[in-house]
Amino acid sequence: MGLFDTVTDVLEGSTQRAPGTAGDDGSEGSYWCDDCGVRVRDVEVDAEGFDRDGDGTPTCPDCGESMRFERASGPGCAC
Ligand SMILES: [Zn+2]
Repeated sequence: MGLFDTVTDVLEGSTQRAPGTAGDDGSEGSYWCDDCGVRVRDVEVDAEGFDRDGDGTPTCPDCGESMRFERASGPGCAC
């Protein structure tokens, strides 16, 4: 039953919630790679398996560049 060990790791990564943030899942925004068009929400970085650089910024899986954080403007904006 070793598979369940990795599931526990993912769950631990999703418990990091900043207080007072908008949204129902603790997300504050998304990380983008402008060159590749890769996007990942901050709360899904670990779940999606993205690597991080020394500052904790996710790196693009396609080109390896640090991704740009774009803060969500608030609930209701889907652009
Ligand atoms: Zn890229």
